[in-house]
Amino acid sequence: MKMENGSGEDCSVKVAVHARPLIGDEQIQGCKDCITVIPKKPQVQIGTHSFTFDYVYGSTASPPSSMFEECVAPLVDGLFQGYNATVLAYGQTGSGKTYTMGTANKDGSPIGLIPQVMTMLFRKIENLKLQAEFQLHVSFIEILKEEVRDLLDMGCPGKSEPSSNGHSGKLAMSGKPQVQIRESSNGVITLTGSTEIDVQTQKEMFTCLEQGSFNRATGSTNMNNQSSRSHAIFTITLDQVRKLDRVSSTDGIPTEDMVEDYLCAKLHLVDLAGSERAKRTGSDGLRFKEGVHINKGLLALGNVISALGDNKKRKEGQHVPYRDSKLTRLLQDSLGGNSRTVMIACISPADINAEETLNTLKYANRAR
Ligand code: ADP
Ligand code: MG
Repeated sequence: MKMENGSGEDCSVKVAVHARPLIGDEQIQGCKDCITVIPKKPQVQIGTHSFTFDYVYGSTASPPSSMFEECVAPLVDGLFQGYNATVLAYGQTGSGKTYTMGTANKDGSPIGLIPQVMTMLFRKIENLKLQAEFQLHVSFIEILKEEVRDLLDMGCPGKSEPSSNGHSGKLAMSGKPQVQIRESSNGVITLTGSTEIDVQTQKEMFTCLEQGSFNRATGSTNMNNQSSRSHAIFTITLDQVRKLDRVSSTDGIPTEDMVEDYLCAKLHLVDLAGSERAKRTGSDGLRFKEGVHINKGLLALGNVISALGDNKKRKEGQHVPYRDSKLTRLLQDSLGGNSRTVMIACISPADINAEETLNTLKYANRAR
């Protein structure tokens, strides 16, 4: 889907579907594969429903090697031109979001998208180092129950317990300042109170990913022991100072001087909370409330992306509801405008998940 933005420049929200194979539990339960990926077409069928997306990746190659090249590599290239970008993994718990993003890479697991981003970034920087100076930093936060938490703050004990204790003050239970989302007058979104780590090497960046993943809150429901109820956002910021030769002319005599051009862009890699309905977790009142909160972020995200994609609404200047959740607020300057967005809808092929899979495809279809 192509959109025109105010400056006449093309920007786009691309939607991909990633169907994983049947996994152990599903095979043991005797589940049947209920989805069909149409060969050589970005189409997926479930029951009588058929959907077309920008890309559809079936379960044969896992992870499909072309996914990174087609969906994410253009965003990494864009970073070097100063364009912000966002990659979102959406889907029910157990559908393969974390696997696809590579947010919780265990030794020996196939490489997900985030580690591939790192490889490409450092390769490009190596190739461009004579033309510019680069500085990379990362942050890793999660949003749980509309509260932003720093996943890189190792000094904070009890990370697995959410600090929501009914206190409305600026200090979380740990005594650390809470992370706040701020918008500057020029529309740049920043986080205050979260750890930003300067990284020099790919290994350092990967360590941040690992440490944050380890700190990420998980809770168990009857769907998945490692069920994720939070949105995890790994953000890479690229600062660059480009040295440009400028030929100017003084009194008709050409002179060469150097000008410096500063660019800053960020890439958010988002492992969204499980999209399943709260009722399906079969949990107590507390968990249900969390479910409702999670849906608040996902609901707002769906509304924002669909508003961005609706050319007619955009021309009428209809407002994009970024402020409806912490998630959309944080991503505000990296969704729409000059920024590039890819949503990867992750689905399970198992017949027992057919209802949720259909919901996921409908949500993704609305984003297109
Ligand atoms: P989510 O993050 O959406 O809850 P996970 O990424 O944790 O889901 O995946 C659930 C399970 O399915 C994990 O055991 C994971 O290893 C497996 N899995 C996910 N995607 C694939 C895939 N493409 N190929 C093989 N196994 C997969
Ligand atoms: Mg996960």
